[in-house]
Amino acid sequence: MSLPPNYRRCISCRATGSKDQFLRIVRLHPTHTVQLDQGMGRSAYLCPQAECLKLAQRKNRLGRSLKAAIPEDLYAQLWQRLEPALQRGNLEGKAKSEEKRRMLER
Ligand SMILES: [Zn+2]
Repeated sequence: MSLPPNYRRCISCRATGSKDQFLRIVRLHPTHTVQLDQGMGRSAYLCPQAECLKLAQRKNRLGRSLKAAIPEDLYAQLWQRLEPALQRGNLEGKAKSEEKRRMLER
């Protein structure tokens, strides 16, 4: 399946979207250093979502996709990136269940 230009696919859930929706992890050429966002080399994309990061980490999808060892601190950085999004998600989740509860009470 071919994707429109600038579309990327999450290595965990395989969702596609424009590349700015994803976290980008790059294996630099030629050093094979793995880092976030910047640099030329083999790239992997991940939704900024806990589920996707969990899967990427637990199943080493990231390592396999980049054909490189992923250092622990890279995962730490990824989790840090997620935190603001997670907090937003939690708030939305709470607001939604609150809304649902109110609907049921009506
Ligand atoms: Zn995903």
